[in-house]
Formats: sequence, C-alpha cells, structure tokens
Amino acid sequence: MKIILFGPPGAGKGTQAKKIETKYNIPQLSTGEMFRAAIKNQTSLGVKVKTIMDEGRLVPDDIVVDLVAEALKMPEYAGGYILDGFPRTVPQAEAFDSLLSKNGTSLDAFLMLKVSEAELVNRILSRGEGRSDDNPEKVKVRLDVYNKETAPVLEYYEKKGLVSYIDGFGTVDEIFSRIETALGKS
Ligand code: AMP
Repeated sequence: MKIILFGPPGAGKGTQAKKIETKYNIPQLSTGEMFRAAIKNQTSLGVKVKTIMDEGRLVPDDIVVDLVAEALKMPEYAGGYILDGFPRTVPQAEAFDSLLSKNGTSLDAFLMLKVSEAELVNRILSRGEGRSDDNPEKVKVRLDVYNKETAPVLEYYEKKGLVSYIDGFGTVDEIFSRIETALGKS
C-alpha cells in the first residue's frame, strides 16, 4: 500500500505514520526526519538545508524530489510506504506522479489530517521535541508556508478523487481508528 499522510505542521502526521507503520507493516518515509538526520550528521545535504529548515521555509523542490526518488529505490520500500511531509508543493506532487507512472504503479490513499489552526499552534509549542523550528515565530512562518505553498497539493489530489479526510482532533488512538476506517475503504 502506498499512502500519503498529509496535513499542516502539528497535525500529528509523524505520530500517526508510526502507528500505520506498525499496524500495516509498511515503512514511513519522512522527508523532515531525513533532513534532520542529515543536519545532525553534518552531511553536505545537511549543510545545504540547515538555514532553510531553521527559518521554517521549504527546501527547494529539486533537492526534495531527488532525495525521495533515491530513497524509494531501496528494497524496504518495494512493498509500499507512507509518505509523511512529502509532497509539499504542486511541483513535488507532479514529480512524484511521474515517478509512480515510470514505475508502473499508483497511489492507494491520500489521508488529510484536519486540525484547527489554534490547536496546531498549541500542539507544536507544547510538544517539546527540541526542534529548532518549534518556536512561535517559526511556527507562524511554517503555517503561512503551508497555507500558500502546501495547501494547493490537497486540491491537486482532490481533482484525482483520492482524498480521505480524517478528523485530527482527539486522542492518538481515536485518530488512528479513523485512519483504519479510511484505509479499509480505499
Ligand atoms: P517536517 O518534519 O515534515 O515538519 O519538516 C520539517 C522541515 O523540513 C520543513 O519545515 C521544511 O523546511 C523541510 N521539509 C520537509 N519536507 C519537505 C518537503 N517535502 N519540501 C520542502 N521542504 C521540506
């Protein structure tokens, strides 16, 4: 199964992706986590993206698309995957589509985690993961970037009729059971 887990920053994508990973035995691919690891390990990619990430802006599409295309060649993703944090712009969605069709495959589900903006800010500021982009000023930038650059990705998949909306308000388990219902249908 190939799944895109979509939603604004703080919607709980990472938490839910890990639960899907365990229950359905398909690996999560988080571009944000890959960038954080690159920064921690001071790789050339890490050096390139550090300032951009710290400021809450988006890494350029070509860098992200190359990273994902390379990662998806790994055998662990051959049986499916959950994308968390990708695609985040319409050009990334288009590039991902060409990659899928080149490989003769297609997406099974696009899950949109819906959470109100006030709740997002609360969650991010209280999650205490020590992320350098989890502070009030950067959260505002990230939400603005989401609304301007990432939200159109939802319309892109809407047009393909692939979107399942998940109420992202409630406990982790309540939200996960809504995801299970949606995946049961797709
Ligand atoms: P996340 O962990 O998904 O919140 O991502 C953290 C940060 O990594 C974002 O604010 C961006 O700077 C960068 N990033 C992650 N995924 C992408 C992507 N698909 N496109 C551009 N930038 C990304």
